[in-house]
Amino acid sequence: MSTEKYIVVLGSGESGTGAAILAQLKGYSVFVSDFGPIGDQYKKELEQSGIPFEENQHTEDRILTAVEVIKSPGIPDKAPIIKKLNERNIPILSEIEFAARYTHAKLICITGSNGKTTTTLLTYHILKNAGLHVGLAGNIGKSFAKQVAFQDFEYYVLEISSFMLDNMFSFRADIAVLLNITPDHLDRYEYKMENYSDSKFRIIQNQKKDDVFIYCTDDEQIKIGLAKRQIIPQVYPFSIEKVLDQGAFLQGEQMIINLHRTNQESLTMSLHDLALQGKHNIYNSMASGIVAKVLELKNETIRDSMGSFTNIEHRLEHVAKISGIDFINDSKATNVNSTWYALESMPGDVILILGGVDKGNDYGMLKDLVRSKVKSIVCLGKDNKRIHEAFENDVEVIVNTFSANEAVQIAYHLAKKGDTVLLSPACASFDLFKNYEDRGNQFKKAVKEL
Ligand code: ADP
Repeated sequence: MSTEKYIVVLGSGESGTGAAILAQLKGYSVFVSDFGPIGDQYKKELEQSGIPFEENQHTEDRILTAVEVIKSPGIPDKAPIIKKLNERNIPILSEIEFAARYTHAKLICITGSNGKTTTTLLTYHILKNAGLHVGLAGNIGKSFAKQVAFQDFEYYVLEISSFMLDNMFSFRADIAVLLNITPDHLDRYEYKMENYSDSKFRIIQNQKKDDVFIYCTDDEQIKIGLAKRQIIPQVYPFSIEKVLDQGAFLQGEQMIINLHRTNQESLTMSLHDLALQGKHNIYNSMASGIVAKVLELKNETIRDSMGSFTNIEHRLEHVAKISGIDFINDSKATNVNSTWYALESMPGDVILILGGVDKGNDYGMLKDLVRSKVKSIVCLGKDNKRIHEAFENDVEVIVNTFSANEAVQIAYHLAKKGDTVLLSPACASFDLFKNYEDRGNQFKKAVKEL
């Protein structure tokens, strides 16, 4: 084996398997190592490509000899194998960084603490409807590397998390979108907001003056981050708080996108015509709309697509109305900020199902909304102490439950006609569920069985 072209892939999920396949196609010897079990589908793909792999272990001799390592974003820096690679100065990349070396496609990269998936899917929907040859990848769907290997597109819309950004170095986004920066995953950033914010701002590293940076100018952390950096690309901000000279903003009930580009008319669209409702979704629609305008798509096409998009499961998803009570599944709300937006968009009289794995949450920002809109809190998590402490003086009832079924039953009893039962947990789900999808699906099942 030539040591010059020996790549190791750590973690063999969708992104790892894709990276391994692309690396092999580009002439590398590849070894895949996963500290946990590898899914059958991925084993099959690796076997079919003749790529050696191991599961449930890391054989150091085979890993520490790599010229480069492609790491799954789920593996934290404090994992022993990562520490050893760092001690030896072996470069550790994300799949996105690696795959980007092998494509000339225009890369539209969307990051932020909340709204990434929604904005990525909406942007993809607009571009695809406009007839562009566009792929969807990143944190979502099929591996970017695999798509680059087999069916390279002219454009990609990529959902990028901060964990991916941490291992991106020479990557350059043609269009970067930064939706917001609010506390999340701080456990991976030494509990320092600045570190997390720096990670998010890596989305614009290497951008040149013809590239584009789209960001929310209502966001305090983004403003702080901008002030301490020299920004090279063209910038298009968006705001719902103030009228902007350039970018996206509101005029009454109309969303306006004006980029001051030659030969381009500004876009006006009524907020009522947006398929995605709620304040947070105005931001998401503005960001997607600016991308579409930068790519010079027709106003009519953009408006049609923004009006026809159907939202994805587990994000403020209306499940059913039973005895006049609305049940809403927002299981994807895994941090306090997304729960804030969910509550903000509710009409009032809410039974809120909250709880799970608390990533160092500050519940303070929810207090006002809880006081004005929430009648009872149903905790759904193994340890609910912090929720009780935070809200004991703000609502009439706080109860503990330990399954989706129990939570739904109790919420149903606490609710009256006209109320809303909202699952918007502000926490991760791993204590009682496999993941947020499992939590949302169990919630929906329990509602349908009422
Ligand atoms: P992400 O991929 O960043 O986790 P999603 O689009 O999956 O974001 O949405 C996650 C949660 O955040 C959902 O509960 C959704 O209602 C809420 N949300 C969506 N967009 C925003 C936004 N721009 N700001 C705050 N919360 C949002």
